[in-house]
Amino acid sequence: MDTLSASIRQTLQELKDQGLYKEEREILGRQGPTVQTRTGTALNFCANNYLGLAGDERVARAAGQALEKFGFGMSSVRFICGTQDQHRELEKEIADFVGKPDSILFSSCFDANGGIFEALFTAADAIVSDQLNHASLIDGIRLSKAARYRYANADMDDLRTQLQAARDNGARHIVIVTDGVFSMDGSFAPLDAICDLAEEFSTLVMVDDSHATGFVGATGRGTPELFGVADRVDIITGTLGKALGGASGGFVAASQEIVDLLRQKARPYLFSNTLAPMVVAGSREALRIAKDADAERRHLTDMSALFRQLMEEAGFDVLPGSHPIHAVMFRGEDGATEAAQIAARMLELGVYVTAFSFPVVPRGLARIRVQLSAAHSEDNVRACVDAFVKARR
Ligand SMILES: *Cc1c(COP(=O)(O)O)cnc(C)c1O
Repeated sequence: MDTLSASIRQTLQELKDQGLYKEEREILGRQGPTVQTRTGTALNFCANNYLGLAGDERVARAAGQALEKFGFGMSSVRFICGTQDQHRELEKEIADFVGKPDSILFSSCFDANGGIFEALFTAADAIVSDQLNHASLIDGIRLSKAARYRYANADMDDLRTQLQAARDNGARHIVIVTDGVFSMDGSFAPLDAICDLAEEFSTLVMVDDSHATGFVGATGRGTPELFGVADRVDIITGTLGKALGGASGGFVAASQEIVDLLRQKARPYLFSNTLAPMVVAGSREALRIAKDADAERRHLTDMSALFRQLMEEAGFDVLPGSHPIHAVMFRGEDGATEAAQIAARMLELGVYVTAFSFPVVPRGLARIRVQLSAAHSEDNVRACVDAFVKARR
């Protein structure tokens, strides 16, 4: 034990020395465009609260009513005695929203991604995965016995090469797996080109749309809608922990057979507790609002465009794109320090943004990630840009 403690202390010290130690900042009230912290009030530009529903009164009220009606917990996994009528209702509503026959809930999207590959694919199959995919996809793929192939981020030539290799090695079923949105860049996976390759090689396509469900695409159905390929994507995973209320929970939406098999075999589904009743009710309300949130989506698009325009006018280097994640780049050797100092100074100025550097992003490509929300006003956006300009001086 003493030697373990010593070695842990050394690891923690190394993290601190390398500037990788993550401190948690405590928020004293609701999530929203502004948050109260111990050091004061700050405009919040780092939540995944794209539609502003995390602190929404209607969602909170729906959850509160469910607390009265359904109680606090279920003390069971789904298949023993943890399924209420509302769990199945939410599954059908999610499936309907993303345009699939059915869906299945998990405690988180991390669990959905952790459970799906082992349940669906065997050593005879192949999984072809984008290099920048989320950690939960990487871990889930590791848990399956399928052959693994990795392609360079959004690189369709490399995807073709890997698909050819999987086919040459005699894979039975092949699945292409990608994030819909790459969260460090705010870039989209080229789903139209991916679906073309899938057709050519007769593979399945799976998209983790966690940073898109509810607000990307003309009616918020996500990246498949944005690229016009909703009927060509076979499996969609997503989270209830971002735009759709931001509480917790994940899902897989797919064909009836796939969903049925996951109910039988996905280990995080079989061996982990059901989603809490109030979370189900709040998420249903969030989804109901999201369906109808054209005005919020338009406002989010407008605020994103405004932010990008003002930042470019002020001479900042913002990665191109149209997603409400904006990567403000600080390139080169001193970039990591510069990004960290600017983010710290901005917090003193009352604007909360997060700096990312190696190993979260490649060396030399440090950045401050700014995430917009439909709850931000034009004044909020202008205040954020002003803080960037002041902090740079
Ligand atoms: C946030 C995120 C997850 C994890 O979702 P949780 O429901 O919080 O576990 C999984 N995949 C992607 C792409 C994400 O962005």
